[in-house]
Amino acid sequence: MLRLHDTALGRISALPGLESGRLSMYVCGPTVYDDPHVGHGRLLLVYDVLRRYLEWTGAEVSHVSNVTDIDDNIINRAKDTNQSPSDLAMRYEERWWEASDALGVLRPHHAPRATEYVSGMVDLVAELMGRGAAYLLGDGVYFAVSSVPDYGLLAQQSLESLRAGARIEADQSKRSPEDFALWKLSAPGEPAWPSPWGPGRPGWHTECVVMSLDLLGEGFDLHTGGLDLKFPHHENERAQAVALGRDFAHHWMHHAFVEVAGEKMSKSLGNFISLTDLLAREDSRAYRMLVLQAHYRSPVEITPDTIARASSTLERLDVFAGRFRAAFDRARPVPSVEAGPTPAGGGDAPALELFRAAMEDDLDTPRAMAIVSDALRQANAAADAGRADEAKALASAVSDMTGALGLFPQGSGTGGGVPAEVIDLVAGLDTARARRDFPAADAIRAELTAQGWLVETGPEGSRVRRRRD
Ligand SMILES: [Zn+2]
Repeated sequence: MLRLHDTALGRISALPGLESGRLSMYVCGPTVYDDPHVGHGRLLLVYDVLRRYLEWTGAEVSHVSNVTDIDDNIINRAKDTNQSPSDLAMRYEERWWEASDALGVLRPHHAPRATEYVSGMVDLVAELMGRGAAYLLGDGVYFAVSSVPDYGLLAQQSLESLRAGARIEADQSKRSPEDFALWKLSAPGEPAWPSPWGPGRPGWHTECVVMSLDLLGEGFDLHTGGLDLKFPHHENERAQAVALGRDFAHHWMHHAFVEVAGEKMSKSLGNFISLTDLLAREDSRAYRMLVLQAHYRSPVEITPDTIARASSTLERLDVFAGRFRAAFDRARPVPSVEAGPTPAGGGDAPALELFRAAMEDDLDTPRAMAIVSDALRQANAAADAGRADEAKALASAVSDMTGALGLFPQGSGTGGGVPAEVIDLVAGLDTARARRDFPAADAIRAELTAQGWLVETGPEGSRVRRRRD
């Protein structure tokens, strides 16, 4: 059974909900005021891999991910660009789903927008007021963190140590610097919804509480997001649920950042890489490969070099799938963003067992990828030595494992990868070599070179890379 690191416990633990074969998962989604960047891409991919893997094991996953379509960033950007906040949000929400589809990420079962849940948020804030956990100031309603005894659980810090490290807030009227806005009274001309405290809009930390409890129910299994959401966003979500006496997420999963040249990617450093740009340049599967090659709790480094290495691993997989086409065709010819993967069965049992053990050990995808590589190498070697059944079982395992990770060989990306006719040529080359028909093999090699491919032939078969010069 899958075990994952739980931020609240500070250690790896089982997910008891999975015992019933079901998992309810809430992924904190985007605030839609700009194009998605590669950090968003990692978010999409990490939880897509988790979901696909669980579905591959036969579990039923309920996946909810919100869209924050009202927020100060949206209002400010709309003002700067002279458009309505709702038009702006709609445009960037579309871009979000375009990028998600291009990455081959399964769409959530529900993707609620904050603006669709405002009345539920007003009710929640009113209930918090009624319980004495919130108070009204001149500009809105605030949550009193002192009403939650274990505030700081996710940050793994006490309120006192959080306070010691906190910036001095301009707003001195709050009872405590950590108190946060639940409801912001709107200035004239800003988007506003009615409330008992006056027209305004919800604070960011409330929407996920209302939406997750509404769509997944109390005591849902898993709440996820980037490390930057751990504190204060998730802490503040949890605090509201605790103050309301509601059973909230049972497990908290956070993934690490994307780094560019050794530094965390951030607006202030000006080193943002747009996901849309990356996907226009590279095979989207190369980014999935790169994300899989890092553990989700470690940073992913994006450089031309790491992308090139991931692309080369991908090309090796494409060529392999060409050689063992039957194993891959049988399973899933075309990846779909609507349907999850289908376990094919019949694969090499020891390889599949190792793969499962790696994935269930806190989603150890680098280890899982190493197991895929080993099986691939062994399948090529078995085929070269004429051990057809062994090769077939191993190839089938590779097809199964890559499918479980959402990594589909050949043509599922946005224009990259190795074309089918090149894969055919490489398969022909290896067949000729196996027959010891060296003149035919040389002719195919010359053809590939003429088409701009570097051909490397080793004991495990041939692979090609695009010449990058
Ligand atoms: Zn959230």
